Amino acid sequence: MDLSAIPLYDHHAHALFREATWRQAPLEPYFSEAEDSEQLARFGRDTLNFRRGIRDLARFYGCDPTVDAVLDARQRGDYPELVQWMFAEARIRHWLIDDGLWTDQLLSVADCAAMVPGIPVRRIVRLEVELAGMVEQHDRASSLLAAFAERLQKLAPDVAAFKSIAAYRTGLDIGRPSASDVEHAFSAVRRAVVPGRPPRLASKPLIDAMLWTVLPVAAAARTPVQFHTGFGDPDLDLRLANPLHLRPLFEAEALRGLRVVCLHSYPYVREAGYLASVYPGAYVDLGLTVPYASVHAMGTALHEAMHLAPITKVLLSTDAQRTPETFWLAARWGRRVLGQVLDTTIADGDLSGDEARLAASRILFDNAAQLYG
Ligand SMILES: [Zn+2]
Repeated sequence: MDLSAIPLYDHHAHALFREATWRQAPLEPYFSEAEDSEQLARFGRDTLNFRRGIRDLARFYGCDPTVDAVLDARQRGDYPELVQWMFAEARIRHWLIDDGLWTDQLLSVADCAAMVPGIPVRRIVRLEVELAGMVEQHDRASSLLAAFAERLQKLAPDVAAFKSIAAYRTGLDIGRPSASDVEHAFSAVRRAVVPGRPPRLASKPLIDAMLWTVLPVAAAARTPVQFHTGFGDPDLDLRLANPLHLRPLFEAEALRGLRVVCLHSYPYVREAGYLASVYPGAYVDLGLTVPYASVHAMGTALHEAMHLAPITKVLLSTDAQRTPETFWLAARWGRRVLGQVLDTTIADGDLSGDEARLAASRILFDNAAQLYG
């Protein structure tokens, strides 16, 4: 199936570099979640994603398929023009930006929107970062959390979603800490604060309490909550990033109506798909898995997501950031691999041709359009 005409609702992505940073940045970090300089320097060019990506970019720029030729070719163009050209080719029609990442190097949501006229751009609130910015103004966890709930209630109508990186910081096994444990944990965080600099929150009682404070707000406001699951930033303990840990959220009567999107999911794609098959509030997204994995693994992941989950609860996104090239590559491979997987579902008799075309529109666009309204 050729899905190139179907637009993408990019519900899981980040902002772009300012031009000067973009021009100086190396290519290797765009193709790997590694941050270790030795890993990137010695092995960064040896992943299937990197090799494939360089050939794709060489074709785009019309140069030799070598890293040096691509680095050279991309310097010759105009940055805003490149952004518009790549977004147009990627057919991205909505762009949701989690702006809680590399805030000193990336453009603001408004500046990103100005780069792509005609494409609606909305903000996603990264909860742990938003909370960190408020720590200094409070002396007790109870007052911080009450103020945080109030702030998110105010933000909810204007933002597309909330997003938690608990998987990276303290794990998805979200506990129910006692009030005194939360106060105790908060005191330690508060004492370590350097004035004027928001702390990097990695206190389990505090993050868990924050989530139990925020999730009812999200459920009431019908604001979807994205959770990173599976692989992602290298500070995570992958064992604690299994989305099965989120079961208590789906079981909690008080959170009825809450919609949770499991992002990335790899290697726990089957687990995320299972959750989406039994809980009305669970959705599965494969951003980052597409395009970071091999072509074979991207196909496997997409198929695994659909093993059990309704096609109306599976989503694609780019999880792209920093350079427009990551948006272009992810959208291109997402469509191509989805087409291949849907061809298989037709051959297997899982879907008719018409149903497979409907699935393609749902997975690329309509599921997100409905979810983020
Ligand atoms: Zn992500």
